[in-house]
Amino acid sequence: MKSELSEESGWHSYDCAFCGEPNEVFADASGARTQKFTEDCQVCCRPNLLTIRFERDGWVSIEVEREYDA
Ligand SMILES: [Zn+2]
Repeated sequence: MKSELSEESGWHSYDCAFCGEPNEVFADASGARTQKFTEDCQVCCRPNLLTIRFERDGWVSIEVEREYDA
């Protein structure tokens, strides 16, 4: 059986812009091709501004910025 790994929808990890700890975010490819939203770090609870881009070749890129200096 062949298992196909899709890079579209799924869980992706990113490092918190404040404390650097790894977090996971669910990227939903059925939405916009570029999605920008805030997620609180699961470790330090500070707000990371995430920009998720679904590239044409099926890859997902995640940018992390501090929403503000908390
Ligand atoms: Zn953090």
